[in-house]
Amino acid sequence: MAKNLGTLRNSTVKGMPRVYSVVQECTASNFGEISVFVANPAVASNNELLSGARILLTGASKGIGEQMAYHYARFGGELVITARNKTLLKQVEEKCLQLGAKKVYSVSADMSDPKSADRVVKFALEKLGSLGYLVLNHIGNDPFEMWNGDAEQTRWLMQVNFLSYVQLTAAALPTLLKTNGSIIVISSLCGKIAVPYVASYSASKFALEGFFNSLRYELTMQKKNVSITLCILGLIDTESAMEKIRARGLTKLSPYPASETALNIIRGGTVRSQEIYCPWWTEVIVRTRDWFTAVKNKLIASSTPVT
Ligand code: NAP
Repeated sequence: MAKNLGTLRNSTVKGMPRVYSVVQECTASNFGEISVFVANPAVASNNELLSGARILLTGASKGIGEQMAYHYARFGGELVITARNKTLLKQVEEKCLQLGAKKVYSVSADMSDPKSADRVVKFALEKLGSLGYLVLNHIGNDPFEMWNGDAEQTRWLMQVNFLSYVQLTAAALPTLLKTNGSIIVISSLCGKIAVPYVASYSASKFALEGFFNSLRYELTMQKKNVSITLCILGLIDTESAMEKIRARGLTKLSPYPASETALNIIRGGTVRSQEIYCPWWTEVIVRTRDWFTAVKNKLIASSTPVT
């Protein structure tokens, strides 16, 4: 059975129109910890918010993207999923159909190729007709180590982690404008605060923040109803992240579950939050990042062993 949108509730508040409220383990920042949105009379139940929604989801062969695909499938979405590994994509596609997705198609694409974005959006539009959600989640594999002066590797990572997000947005914006759709951008605490061993990754996530926050203003100024949700994630228990963390000897950090993270991202995107933080304490870190900078810098530099 399709899982309810977590804690999304249909409730009545005295003196107010009927509202849906979302109390999140992770926070939706545009309304503080509680997001409230006025009920659309056309929306009959929670799951119907996403039933039949047309979604293009990148980086869906594993990790958080794979988990998002399963949640969207349970809600009855129509999905196009993408990554490079065809075999893994096919497996995710089959599981999505079993879980209740109305339609699922997969397309293999390497986002280091600047032509991939157009091809993927074209494929999605051919299969689904239009898009209500563009979920930008993929990342290129980058070593968790000190920057070695390889500017070409940084350029490559900027293409995969940042420029391809811009290219996918450019290609999908016309359909999203017609559907009053949503762009969900998966970012990181490293896109708000720089830490060691992730210089290029951090640069790509900072770039996403700048680009999409600026674009959101421009859409609003033009009265264009496309929402942009930036998702600020802390450590999440995906295989690739945990492998890097363990290799660096950072064994005391406790990660947040990928499936819960995926659900919180979907929830934030559905209620059109500007930002979500997951786990919740990442927001505290960001809000206080400019306090006691000397102490903070010392702590960060000393908590990560030099190898
Ligand atoms: P992951 O498990 O490594 O998955 C990455 C996805 O991107 C895979 O589907 C991978 O599939 C795809 N991908 C890799 N290289 C690609 C390329 N060149 N072109 C197209 N697709 C490519 O990552 P994750 O841990 O789930 O992270 C997902 C998102 O959450 C990322 O945006 C990441 O920055 C963010 N995040 C994660 C954490 C964490 O602790 N896990 C923390 C903060 C933020 P293929 O290999 O098949 O292409």
